[in-house]
Amino acid sequence: MKLDRSSALFGKARSLMPGGVNSPVRAFRSVGCDPLFIERAAGSRIYDADGNEYIDYVGSWGPMIVGHCHPRVVHAVTSAMEKGSSFGAPTELEIRLAEMVVEAVPSIEMVRMVSSGTEATMSAIRLARAYTGRDAVIKFAGCYHGHADSLLVRAGSGAATFGVPDSPGVPADFARHTLIAEYNDPDSVEALITENKGKVACIIIEPIAGNMGTVAPRRGFLEALRRMCDREGIILIFDEVMTGFRVAYGGAQELYGVTPDMTTLGKIIGGGLPVGAFGGRQEIMELLSPSGGVYQAGTLSGNPLAMAAGIATLTLLQEKGFYANLEEKSARLAAGLARAAADAGFPVYSARVGSMLCTFFSNREVDNWTSAAGCDTATFGRYFRAMLDQGVYLAPSQFETVFVSGAHSVEDIDLTIEAAAKAFKILAS
Ligand SMILES: *Cc1c(COP(=O)(O)O)cnc(C)c1O
Repeated sequence: MKLDRSSALFGKARSLMPGGVNSPVRAFRSVGCDPLFIERAAGSRIYDADGNEYIDYVGSWGPMIVGHCHPRVVHAVTSAMEKGSSFGAPTELEIRLAEMVVEAVPSIEMVRMVSSGTEATMSAIRLARAYTGRDAVIKFAGCYHGHADSLLVRAGSGAATFGVPDSPGVPADFARHTLIAEYNDPDSVEALITENKGKVACIIIEPIAGNMGTVAPRRGFLEALRRMCDREGIILIFDEVMTGFRVAYGGAQELYGVTPDMTTLGKIIGGGLPVGAFGGRQEIMELLSPSGGVYQAGTLSGNPLAMAAGIATLTLLQEKGFYANLEEKSARLAAGLARAAADAGFPVYSARVGSMLCTFFSNREVDNWTSAAGCDTATFGRYFRAMLDQGVYLAPSQFETVFVSGAHSVEDIDLTIEAAAKAFKILAS
C-alpha cells in the first residue's frame, strides 16, 4: 500500500504541530506506524491522501453513527451555513436540539450546549460541586472524561486514596480532590465514601466504559452507585459523551434503566461537528448562570451549523429499526471476529455492547482498568497493521472502541471478518 503522501504530510505536520497532530492518539504511537492523513470520507468508507480506501470503524471516535457525509446531514449543515455560521445570539435551532435531547433522555429536564465533551464534564462537575457545597469527585480508573485538570487523574500504582495527576502541569492540589475507584467494584466506591464522609460532591462514570476498550458494567453495579448516591446526597453523573444515542436512543441509562442526576453528552449529538451538552434535574441546572450563580459560557456554544448537524443526525436515528439493524450488524461483526481468532487458536476476549465493541488481546475477562492494562498491546499493534494493510481502519490503540455505523453494509462486515481471519493467522504463525 502506497503511503508516500501521508508520510510527507506527517513530516511537514511534525514541524508545525506537537507530534504532528491536534489530538494525541491520532499519531498512531501505540501501534508502531505513522498516521494516515485523511482526504475525505463517504458512508462507511474513509480515503487517505494517497487515495487508499478503508472501511472505517473509528467514525471520528464515535460521532459518525449514520456514516460519513449522510446526504441529510450535509443538506442540513449547508442550509444553515447559507444563513450565517455564528451569531453569538440565541437561535430556534438550539431549542429544537434541546427539545430532542430532553425527549430522548428523561433524566435531563434542562440542558446546556457547549462545544466539546471536555467542556460538558468540566461544567457538570462545577455544577455538582456548587449544588452539594462539596469538593471531592469520585471517578473510575480507566474512565476518560476529557482533559480538564481535575479529571486527568487515574489511580496511582497501589491503592492511593488521593489522585495523582496523569499529566505534568496539573497541580497536585487540583488532583487531590479526585478520588479513584475501580470500575465494576462497588466496595471500592463505598470505601472512598466512608473515608471522605460528607465531602463527595459527585460520582462521574462512563456507564459503559469505552475509553479502556469496551467494558460493560456488571449487573447491579450502576444500581449500587445509584443507591450510594441517594443515601449520601451525592450527585450521580453519567458521562454519556460516547454512549449517548449510541447504545440506544436514550443512551446507557435507557439500556440499563438506571437514572443519573446529571448526564453529559457529546460526539453523536453534534453529528460530526463540535458539540457537547450537559443536563439534568431542573433544580440543579437552574443554578447555572444566568439563572443562577455558577458561571459557564462559550462564544460558539449552540453554534447553528453544529445544531443543524445534530438535529439531522438525531432525526435519522429516530427512523424505525435503526438500532435493531445496527445491533444485528454489530453482533455479526463481533461474532465473526471472535470466530476468526478462535479458528486461528488465538486467545482474545471479545466485548460488545450494541455498536461498541473491542477485541482485547487477553486470555481472561476484561472488566476494569487493571485487567485492560494487562492486554498484549504489542500484538494489538501487529493486528492493527495487518487490518490496515487489508483496508480496515480501526482505532490505533488497544484501549479504544470499534464503532459500527448505520452505513456499514453486511458486505463491509463480512470483508472485515475475512481480513481479521487472515490477520489472526499471521499473528498465530
Ligand atoms: C470523547 C469523550 C470525552 C471528551 O470529549 P471531547 O469532545 O473529546 O472533549 C468525554 N467523555 C467521554 C466518555 C468521551 O468518550
